[in-house]
Amino acid sequence: MNIHPPNPIGAARGRESGQFGSNTNHRKPSMRGAINAKCRECIYDPVGGTGTWRAQVEACTVHDCSLYPLRPVSRCERG
Ligand code: SF4
Repeated sequence: MNIHPPNPIGAARGRESGQFGSNTNHRKPSMRGAINAKCRECIYDPVGGTGTWRAQVEACTVHDCSLYPLRPVSRCERG
């Protein structure tokens, strides 16, 4: 039985919706986790895309996106 009402502030920040991946301990998501989640949500196509979500994000070509320099890429790609 859940005796606590939902926290509207936490829900608005995505803390209770699972928006930031597997972070289910209700802690503030990390900046890295939030960026990864945004890029994944933006570009990942599990059906028609090629490769993992990380490979698809790494292959992003939207250079004028504000997250482009911060998107998750392998060390080889980053240089
Ligand atoms: S960097 Fe690419 S994948 Fe990430 S949010 Fe911007 S456009 Fe989407």
